[in-house]
Amino acid sequence: MVTNAILEFEQAFADWLGVSHAFAFWKGRVAIYAILKAMGIGEGDEIILPGYTCVVAVNPIKFLAAKPVYVDIEPATYNIDPDKIEAKISKRTKLIMAQHTYGYPAKMDAIMDISDRHGLPVMEDSCLAVGSTYKNQKTGTFGIAACWSGQWNKTFTTGVGGLATTNDSELGEKIRRLREQEACQPTFKETSLLSLQRMAHRAIVYPQTTAMIQSVFRWLSDKKLVVGSSATSEYKQQYDPAFFKAMGLGQARTGIRAVRRLESNIDHRRRMARLYDALLAERNWPMPNIPDHIDPVLARYPVRVADKAKAVALAAKARVELGTWFECPLHQALVSLEKYDYFEGMCPQAEQAAREVVNLPTHPRADERVARRGVEFVCQIGPAR
Ligand SMILES: *Cc1c(COP(=O)(O)O)cnc(C)c1O
Repeated sequence: MVTNAILEFEQAFADWLGVSHAFAFWKGRVAIYAILKAMGIGEGDEIILPGYTCVVAVNPIKFLAAKPVYVDIEPATYNIDPDKIEAKISKRTKLIMAQHTYGYPAKMDAIMDISDRHGLPVMEDSCLAVGSTYKNQKTGTFGIAACWSGQWNKTFTTGVGGLATTNDSELGEKIRRLREQEACQPTFKETSLLSLQRMAHRAIVYPQTTAMIQSVFRWLSDKKLVVGSSATSEYKQQYDPAFFKAMGLGQARTGIRAVRRLESNIDHRRRMARLYDALLAERNWPMPNIPDHIDPVLARYPVRVADKAKAVALAAKARVELGTWFECPLHQALVSLEKYDYFEGMCPQAEQAAREVVNLPTHPRADERVARRGVEFVCQIGPAR
């Protein structure tokens, strides 16, 4: 059942991005699954992706019995290192997943060049990069398709939520048909709980209380009293038809409002990032070398600290909303990474980043005071060497 609000949300997002098709889903990971399945990815196919991602982005590959093949990242932008892609291409490679980590665009020139030379399609994971540009072109418009997330911590939120976008009419038609034929609808309980959560989120979450809210939220989530971002069953790598879920009406209505506010949200995030840049540079913090031709919109502002564990332990007391993305090459995997075909040492840069990087908020509720306190805090911990 695709209602008017959902069509309106999809159209608004497609217009904002400048592409012809957008399809809304219950979550971003469901959009990834829809794209892969519509592309015909199946058993034994290999998918190249950075070894520094969310495990929920790898699950759809596993659900389709395909194989993730990890490539290490560039240390400055945390994105797939194009120089290391070709060595991983085999006869079974079907797709390159380019993720724009934290909001930094991946090196799209080099990636699209490899794509052309090997006849391999590219899917962009733009979940953390809404409005970022690479040589003045928006992320999510380079590859054949892109996925987006409306989860609580992303650039815009629909509670949970996701979108698949494409400029390719044939692929668009396949995604549309797949959704029509196979997607289940969220239950009344799921949509009502989610709308209560959206209300609570607006009312109570602001930087100083985030840590507390998150722990309450996790506890409720474990007790199945809220719609969690990830269900434990998902980590079993077994496809449950309930996973492939359409977007609900309330999410779409929230999404329409979020798209209306998107440009001011993006401007705010750009200002916050510039503020962090300036404050850190003032303190002689070692700054990463970010090329001029990328203009990132950061979902979170990453910093490499000398002692991540200490930073995490002290953050709540210092009233700093410190994020931990990504804690390991496949963030928040609850099972051994080997079950996801990742073996320790595969991506040394990603492993180092996971040990060092914490991140600070850029969202609309964060202001200059939040930035100053965050910078003061990481300076007390000190930079990674
Ligand atoms: C959040 C995220 C996803 C998944 O989005 P959900 O809406 O939580 O399913 C996928 N990839 C990246 C890089 C993300 O940050």
